[in-house]
Amino acid sequence: MKALLIEDTLTSATLVSHQLRKIGIEPIVARDGEKGIEQFKLERPDLILLDIIMPGMDGFEVARRIRQLEQAGEWTPIIFLTARTSDADLEKGIAVGGDDYLIKPVSETVLAAKVRAMQRIAQMRYSLLVLTRKLDEANQELTRLSSLDGLTSIANRRQFDETLLREWRRASRQGKPLALLLADVDRFKQFNDGYGHQVGDECLKAVARTFTGVLRRPADLVARYGGEEFAVILPDTDITGALQVAEGMRSAVENLRITHRYSQDGGVVTVSIGVASVIPGRTEGRPADLLKAADDALYQAKESGRNRIAATAVRIPP
Ligand code: GH3
Ligand code: MG
Ligand code: MG
Ligand code: MG
Repeated sequence: MKALLIEDTLTSATLVSHQLRKIGIEPIVARDGEKGIEQFKLERPDLILLDIIMPGMDGFEVARRIRQLEQAGEWTPIIFLTARTSDADLEKGIAVGGDDYLIKPVSETVLAAKVRAMQRIAQMRYSLLVLTRKLDEANQELTRLSSLDGLTSIANRRQFDETLLREWRRASRQGKPLALLLADVDRFKQFNDGYGHQVGDECLKAVARTFTGVLRRPADLVARYGGEEFAVILPDTDITGALQVAEGMRSAVENLRITHRYSQDGGVVTVSIGVASVIPGRTEGRPADLLKAADDALYQAKESGRNRIAATAVRIPP
């Protein structure tokens, strides 16, 4: 344990140092307030024994400054050493940030007991800090997890909704296009019924990984929108660019060549994708309009044979 003793009187400094050594503590001694604060900054002691009456800066002021120097969550026990005994002094000592009081000449037994009490409190405080840090980390992890889909580990619907609104507003401010893709696995009910739910889940994971691999820009977001539906947000992307990305996603899934012998169409797992892009107006229109357009396009893609992409114009009400 590191103790800092701030005491101007040589006899008292010597005596208290001697007493501290007897309980196994080698004190750092400072002979006035300024030097005490310097030593505090340098040594960051575990305990401070602080005289009150000193030339220049008195002990109350030293305590006040030390409390200001401490970082958030940091706390060094301060025990005042004084010949004074009035209630008002004790109150002031506590008010400026002191923790306890020792009356000079200091009793060896009382000093040892108080140092031990402070050690105990410091230890408990340290444990609490460690615990708080762990709790903070756990909370951060929880926040991260609450935005992810449990099966595929890509963004969940919640993160999708938040991102879509944010990107819609940004695009509206900047007058830039915003594209949305809705992808749906073809004949997936038959896949599930034929191979079982677990194989179905593995298939969804593979599709999610594949979509993630196709997207290039950091601002792009792929999310699990529903059961076997995925949604992709492409900021600053017009319809031409969005169709390119969609085609990349469609062909990548087809090229996985996941056997689907229960599908009447092709024998492998495929997706259909609806594409929409819009430059959001400043006042009119909502993200729901973009979603509706992508959903209509997806319906078209399904109707015209599946394993394909389709686009529809976004109708923004006047
Ligand atoms: P379509 O080509 O028209 O999209 O046909 P579909 O069979 O894919 O469409 P439908 O919406 O009728 O079926 C979706 C099926 O996806 C229902 C369910 O069996 C399956 N499904 C939905 N969510 C999950 C999931 O989390 N895990 C698994 N394994 N299957 C799911
Ligand atoms: Mg003094
Ligand atoms: Mg579906
Ligand atoms: Mg489907």
